[in-house]
Amino acid sequence: MPRALLFGTPVSPGIAIGELRFKHNTRLIERRRISPREIAKEQSMLRDAASSVREALREAMDKVPEDMAEYREVIAAQIELARDPKLLDKAGKVIEKDLICASWALENTVEELCDIFRKMDNPYLRDRAQDIRAVGLRLRACLAGTESEELEAAILAAEDLSPADVMEMDFKGIQAVVTAEGGPTSHTAILSRGLHIPALVGVTGLLNTALHGDRVIVDGLKGCILLDPDEKDIKQYESRRTDYLAWENRTRKEARWPAEMTDGVRVAVQANLERAEEADDLAATGADGVGLYRTEFSFLREQLPDEEALFAEYDCVARKIAPERVVFRTLDCGADKMLAAQEALREPNPALGLRGIRFCLRHQGIFRTQLRALMRAGITGNMAIMLPMISGREEILAVRRIMQELHQQLQAEGLPHADQLPLGIMVETPSAVLIADTLARECDFFSIGTNDLIHYLIAIDRNNAHVSHLAEALHPAVVRSLKRVIDAAHREGIGVSVCGELAADPYGLAILLGMGVDSVSASPRFISGMKHMIRRLDAKFCDELAHSVLMSTDVSVSQRILRERLQAVLGPELAFHTTSILTESRP
Ligand code: PEP
Ligand code: MG
Repeated sequence: MPRALLFGTPVSPGIAIGELRFKHNTRLIERRRISPREIAKEQSMLRDAASSVREALREAMDKVPEDMAEYREVIAAQIELARDPKLLDKAGKVIEKDLICASWALENTVEELCDIFRKMDNPYLRDRAQDIRAVGLRLRACLAGTESEELEAAILAAEDLSPADVMEMDFKGIQAVVTAEGGPTSHTAILSRGLHIPALVGVTGLLNTALHGDRVIVDGLKGCILLDPDEKDIKQYESRRTDYLAWENRTRKEARWPAEMTDGVRVAVQANLERAEEADDLAATGADGVGLYRTEFSFLREQLPDEEALFAEYDCVARKIAPERVVFRTLDCGADKMLAAQEALREPNPALGLRGIRFCLRHQGIFRTQLRALMRAGITGNMAIMLPMISGREEILAVRRIMQELHQQLQAEGLPHADQLPLGIMVETPSAVLIADTLARECDFFSIGTNDLIHYLIAIDRNNAHVSHLAEALHPAVVRSLKRVIDAAHREGIGVSVCGELAADPYGLAILLGMGVDSVSASPRFISGMKHMIRRLDAKFCDELAHSVLMSTDVSVSQRILRERLQAVLGPELAFHTTSILTESRP
């Protein structure tokens, strides 16, 4: 491999040096010619793969909850396909006729069948092409059999990682994560930060340039990967790593100092968590409580959790965080956080589909179980409930009605619970921005989810690398929306926080402080650095900065203003913060 530099979006800071290990790279299909003697072996491998895939699908089917009948149907159809002679016998014959290995024969057969189905007039039959492809991918992964490779001291590389992949893996030995797909707010990014592993997403050329086993340097501050570094590179990066770690250590030592600006204005800096264990050492990060607890991760496991398991999780987190508050966000599945069973439904456009509160109000069995667990946990600690993906007032009212019913049920059952927990919403859809005043009258607090809001406002998929360059946080539509929501909340007398990644971006943070946000919430990884930065700013400076950006209609002018003014105040420290707003500082 020649020495080369690949660029991606830095999503978790730090520098790592190590060897690349690829996880299920679906583009690397084995294409091998075989001798007639190998025909029987390849055919039998194909049959074995088909039976393992059927078994795995049956297990998945058993775990689909009763009230999700449509998902069961999709999985049942895939089980049928995994034994369909049109697919398997045909691929078996291709192995024999063309003398090619099972993976290659399978790929050709899947493509041919998909083509036939795609051309059919009947829309139901046309859609079967997706099922054939899905089963083909499972069979291929099974034939490749690379899923359980040793990941000790490795730099994990992949086309993309789903939250479910991340949940399954043991990250202990992993030094850094790099993916070809994914945006800065993907869950790979969020989880890597939680695990303190440097990460880059959307790395151009990763799949065609880098190879399994290559020695590389991952620069999670500037957003690049250096392939085949020489001794000089390694020395230089080791020294950069030392400087960065020294700064990080200093901010950690001061983590518990309050986030008070030079003119005395204080802001709460809270943590975004996704797993109960993260609550253990939260105090050391300096967080003023938890502004966002993403509850979906325990639902991404194979088996949906029951009320007792959820109650135990929420009760344990609330106790650990008390007396500080923890805001539990109800299940936000769909789009980039598909439940295993939901994935089978393959909605044509899941980001605009049944996600967040929409899914919960449709599948109320799952939602009510979660709300009961939350209400029961609410008697200890200091808790609030937050609803994701709200797009209209009716959704909040529906949840209030459900909570009222659950209160009566729990009372009748004699189960202690809290019936007056503060109820807030995520503001992350354009409709919520436009009716922020109306929504503020129905709930107790707002938290702006800039990860989704930026994407929905500009109409881009947050996990699509082809349009990630358009995800512009300084777009005037975004900046004006933020101001509008913050002002509406304050006019209606409720507090407003920002829990999207923008809050941890040094430029984003400065603007949000200037707009008067009450609190910010980010990955624990960033908290000490954010507090350190806040202590070096003053509220008047931030107010003027936000005003200049709000007045600007040109993103590059806003970028220049931010870069020049913050550089003047923060100096070299600015380079130690991860930004996706201004990424021109590449080596
Ligand atoms: C957001 O959308 O900004 C957010 C915090 O939620 P998530 O990233 O989990 O969608
Ligand atoms: Mg969101």
